[in-house]
Amino acid sequence: MDKEIEIDVFTDERHPYYPRPNLIELVAKRKTVKETIRYDLDWYEANDVDLMLSTPVFQIDTKTKTVISTSQDHGRYDKLLIAVGCRPFVPPFEGLHKNNVHVIRTLDDALDIRDAVKGAGREIIVGGGILGIELAAAMKEVGGEPIVVSNEDRLLPMQLDDQGSAVLTKQLEKKGISILFGFNCKSISGETDATGIVSTTNDTISGDLVVIATGVRSNTLIAKNSGISFNKAITVDEYMQTSAEGIFAAGDCMEYNNQWYGIIPWATATARVAAKNMLDFGSAKFEGITPSNQLQVAGIDLTSIGIIHPDSPDYETLVSVDAENGKYFKAVLKDDVLVGGIALGSRKIALNLRSLIVKGENISDIKQSLFDDA
Ligand SMILES: Cc1cc2nc3c(=O)[nH]c(=O)nc-3n(C[C@H](O)[C@H](O)[C@H](O)COP(=O)(O)OP(=O)(O)OC[C@H]3O[C@@H](n4cnc5c(N)ncnc54)[C@H](O)[C@@H]3O)c2cc1C
Repeated sequence: MDKEIEIDVFTDERHPYYPRPNLIELVAKRKTVKETIRYDLDWYEANDVDLMLSTPVFQIDTKTKTVISTSQDHGRYDKLLIAVGCRPFVPPFEGLHKNNVHVIRTLDDALDIRDAVKGAGREIIVGGGILGIELAAAMKEVGGEPIVVSNEDRLLPMQLDDQGSAVLTKQLEKKGISILFGFNCKSISGETDATGIVSTTNDTISGDLVVIATGVRSNTLIAKNSGISFNKAITVDEYMQTSAEGIFAAGDCMEYNNQWYGIIPWATATARVAAKNMLDFGSAKFEGITPSNQLQVAGIDLTSIGIIHPDSPDYETLVSVDAENGKYFKAVLKDDVLVGGIALGSRKIALNLRSLIVKGENISDIKQSLFDDA
């Protein structure tokens, strides 16, 4: 928005920015490391951005407006954005230190997993969320034998309901991805190398590679060290400004009005508002987002948007199931306006639901034919 300003970017990673969905493609060997990274170093040079790789920031001195990092340079700022994201949440299982126990958040995590899948006989993924399923599908693509293990009784608890989960589970099993529900993992078995997992009821699953994909937590340490307010994530106002004047936050590391989503649409929407206000304070207010999640693996297409678990009788729910053909659709309406939906098995229906939700118009005349084109 302003070519004249000087921008310094600090990251603790050794690679420049890459979209994290690319990591799944890296594990599936559909992308190389070079293809995973969005902009090469020349891009930063051409755009006059000083990128400091492998340079973690520990603290911000809000009085002297200085960033305290491992670098001696570029400490001073006029405006500052905290966009430190999330880290994987790992439950306190016993044996986490064993070889071949992984998480997936960074490019280096993905490289480790990609290399480990080669020698593994069976890959265990603990966690039945989007990330766990996408990773399992990527492993299957490169010859693995993945099993997804969940302590819940359905997949994608945030994005699907029981019926939808049953249809998705069947589809995944058809593609050779095993799913096991109700397994409450307590430890990783094996001496120095992982040989499987053990449940709280002492059931066991053998495997040579364990990936723990049980959610994320916002990085708030930098706020804590700097006297900046946070709850579960760093708190901001409608301008994306934190409790410290001139310091903004965006993405997975911040919450607004008790709302938080660990998805790219949230990161980009909050980042745009933060950027505008960093250049011209008061020029943009955050309007919120309609959360949308997508799972596209091995020919399975699932979209989940807005309110899908209505919690009052004021909502109307329409459902269509064709389990044999892997199709499940759900629409949630309030006063004949579409406020949420699930589309499993049809991109066309997914796009239609999304556009109707965004428009927010009365659809009483078409609501009974919403799923006709499936
Ligand atoms: C494998 C994978 C696939 C995903 N797929 C999707 C998808 O398909 N769709 C979707 O919507 N979302 C997806 N997500 C989630 C999405 O990637 C995140 O919502 C998004 O990356 C958030 O962006 P961010 O910039 O807030 O944080 P991040 O992308 O986490 O970036 C924060 C950066 O700050 C660095 N950092 C942290 N602390 C410090 C410090 N103290 N000093 C310096 N640097 C620091 C971190 O290392 C990181 O590089 C996926 C996530 C993963 C892991």
